[in-house]
Amino acid sequence: MSAFTRRQWIQGAAAGAGVFSLSSLAAALQNTTTPYQRPKLKITDIRTAYVSAHGPQLHVRIYTDQGIFGHGEATDSALGAAAIIGGFRRFLIGQDPLNIELLWERVRTMGIFAGAQAGQYVTALTGIEIALWDLAGKAVGLPVYQLLGGKCRDRIRLYCDSAGHRPEEPGTMQKFQQVKDLGFTALKIDVDDGRDPNRWDPVNWTASNAEIDRMVKEVAFVRENFEPRVDLAVDMHGRYDATTGKRMAIELEPFKLLFLEEPVPAENVPVMRDIRESTKTPICAGENLFLRHGFRELLESRAVDIIMPDIQKCGGLLESRKIADMAHTYYIPMAPHCVVSPIGTMASCHVCAAIPNFLVLEWHWISRWKLWGEFVKEGNIIDKGYVALTDRPGIGVELNEEAARRVQTPNTTWFVAS
Ligand code: MG
Repeated sequence: MSAFTRRQWIQGAAAGAGVFSLSSLAAALQNTTTPYQRPKLKITDIRTAYVSAHGPQLHVRIYTDQGIFGHGEATDSALGAAAIIGGFRRFLIGQDPLNIELLWERVRTMGIFAGAQAGQYVTALTGIEIALWDLAGKAVGLPVYQLLGGKCRDRIRLYCDSAGHRPEEPGTMQKFQQVKDLGFTALKIDVDDGRDPNRWDPVNWTASNAEIDRMVKEVAFVRENFEPRVDLAVDMHGRYDATTGKRMAIELEPFKLLFLEEPVPAENVPVMRDIRESTKTPICAGENLFLRHGFRELLESRAVDIIMPDIQKCGGLLESRKIADMAHTYYIPMAPHCVVSPIGTMASCHVCAAIPNFLVLEWHWISRWKLWGEFVKEGNIIDKGYVALTDRPGIGVELNEEAARRVQTPNTTWFVAS
C-alpha cells in the first residue's frame, strides 16, 4: 500500500492535470485514503485456532496489509465454525475491515439460505465481528468501548459460576472460601442434575418431589453460607417442563434470587411468560438465542425480567449492544452469558461498559484459575470480582500462545496461513 497522503494526491493531481481527470482523482482518493489521511486498510488473511476450555472456543485472527491484526473469540456452537469462516474468506479478503456493520450485514445476508438465522453460522460471524472490533480499535488507537458509544462504568461486575455448592461434596466449603477470598459479590449455581437418584425417568422432564426438595435444599445451603449482600443466581439449563419450572420459581421465592435462569427452554416464549407471571422470582433467559430477532418476541411478550445473550455467539459486540438497547426500551437489564477466556471476557466487558442497562457478567473459569491468569499476556484481569476497563486500543488483551496451546483442541491447526 502506498503511503500517499491526501495532500500528496492533490499535489500530484495539480502537477499532472492532463493525466488525472477529476473523476479519476476522486475515485483514487476514495479508494486509497480516508478523509483523515490514514491509508485505507485491507484484509489480507483470516486464521483460526481452537481451544477446549469451558467447551470449544474458536479464536479468530484477521490480518491486514499494514501489519496489525484483530483477534476475536467465539464459543459453544463454535465447533464447525472454522470451516464456515473458510467460506467467508473469498468475500472478506481485500475488504476495508473498518466497515464493520457493512461486512457483518453482507456476510449475514449471504447466508440466509445457509442457516444465517442462528447457530454455527452466526457464531462464525460473531468471531469475525469481534476480531474486526479489536482491529478497528488498534487502527484508530482507541479501546472498543469508546467505539461503541463510550463507557457508562469503569469496571464490570462479575458473578462466579458453579464454584461447587453441594452440602455432601468434599471441598465445597473450601470452594466457597475461594469465592469469598477472590472478592466476588455474586455467584450462580446449577441445580439441574440428570443423574439425580430421585428421578423416576431419565428422559421425562418432570422433577419429582424429592428432586425439587434436593434443588431447594442446595439453594438454601448456598444462601446460608454467603452474607445477604452477595447475590445468588440459579440455573436450570432449560431441562425441565413447565410444571416443574413454575414450582421451582415459586419454591425459590424466599431466597430473593438475583435470577432463576431458564426453568424451561427459551424457545417457547408464551410458556416462559406463564412462569414469569406466576412468580416473584426474576426470570432470566437467552444464552441460546441469536441476533436481535432471537430476543424480539421474548421482550415484546415481557416473558423475562433479565436477558442473557452470549456475546461470543449471538452476533457480536455491536449486535449485543443493539439487543441491550432493545431490552432497555422495556426497562429490562442484560446479564450476558460468558464462558470464554480472558480475551472473550474482556471483549464482553467493552459491551457491558457501553450499555446503560448492564446488570452483571458471567465468569466461569474458577476451576481453571491458573490457566485464567496465564491465558493473556496481561495476566489475571479480575480484581475483587470486577474487571477494570483500560485505555489500551482494541480489546486490550493479547493471547499468550504458550499457555493457550496447552488447551489446544486435539487434531486442529493453530492460526495456519491460508
Ligand atoms: Mg446457563
